[in-house]
Amino acid sequence: MSLKVGVIGTGMIGQDHIRRLTQVLSGVEVTGVSDIDASRAAAAAPQGAEVFATPQALIRSDRIDAVVICSWGPAHEEQLLDCIAAGKPVFCEKPLVTSAEAARRVMDAEVGFGRRLVQVGFMRRFDADYRRLKAVIDGGTLGLPLIYKSVHRNASVPPGLYTSEMPLNDTLVHDADISRWLLSDEVTGVEVRLPRRSRQGGELRDPHMVLLHMASGAIVDVEISVNIAYGYDIRGEVSCETGIAALPNRPATVITDAHGIRQAIPEDWRERFIEAYDQEFREWIAAAGQGTATGPSTWDGYAATLVADAALEAAETGQLARIEMGEKPGLYDLPLQQAA
Ligand code: NAP
Repeated sequence: MSLKVGVIGTGMIGQDHIRRLTQVLSGVEVTGVSDIDASRAAAAAPQGAEVFATPQALIRSDRIDAVVICSWGPAHEEQLLDCIAAGKPVFCEKPLVTSAEAARRVMDAEVGFGRRLVQVGFMRRFDADYRRLKAVIDGGTLGLPLIYKSVHRNASVPPGLYTSEMPLNDTLVHDADISRWLLSDEVTGVEVRLPRRSRQGGELRDPHMVLLHMASGAIVDVEISVNIAYGYDIRGEVSCETGIAALPNRPATVITDAHGIRQAIPEDWRERFIEAYDQEFREWIAAAGQGTATGPSTWDGYAATLVADAALEAAETGQLARIEMGEKPGLYDLPLQQAA
């Protein structure tokens, strides 16, 4: 039987996920949509799907087994809490929420419910290259991981809409999450350095260099450049005690012409991570069908929120900003749990 899914927020990524759920993946059906702009929801609704007037009506409907949240960040907390109150599995695009207090409220609600229901949209964990890199580190043949270099480059960002805080509170969350996951570690402190400003982005503060201090003593060095013109370029290299392991440069198509031999660069994140998004939803559908969630959890969303807050503080003060996560609830250590 198909999982009946409702999508809240039918903007850019909401529409892409509806395409994925209706045209790419099996075992799933989009039976409802909702957006603050009802006409946008109606335009994005697949045939037969109901357009709900509010996210709450969608979440409570008998036509919806599980929910996908693609609204903007400040709306996530209320929608997540409603999903947990209704006992429905929910995929929530990053950021989980926009403050540490909100993350704790969502975590308390889920822990109180007693079973994982929330998966956060950190799609890099589902990318085949990152999974191979993690398998090498976890295999231990290179010894302990000491330094991880994460490069996050965007060709451009929308002028005016993308502000100088966003490299640290919107873009960095992907590097923070993948660093924690790859190294099986937690971030305990953040430093930010601001190099010479690129003229590509006008007044926008770009690029950023971020150092994440990990609990093990390993250090992650993140470059965030959001107006680098040439394309979307994601790199990662781990230096271990007896060797290094790195992501391959993607994609592999080699073009030879009168200008020489070169490799094409993806234009944006949709192209680079298209298979990762598909796999992320395959695994979500399987877990949601069992009444639960897998992959990046509310705890992981909370960690990313703390890193974003610390990075903003570090950029302001020029000092190391420390992170105290508190105790991890046991719920987030358990393997996949099924609904009783
Ligand atoms: P978007 O194009 O602005 O779409 C968001 C949609 O949600 C808009 O239609 C918006 O309406 C609607 N909305 C806002 N508040 C709502 C509410 N309370 N209830 C229902 N609908 C509401 O933004 P987007 O780029 O798709 O991003 C959506 C989310 O996905 C964000 O959290 C973003 O960070 C995340 N994202 C993740 C990735 C990734 O790599 N994983 C990539 C892109 C985006 P209005 O426009 O009228 O406000």
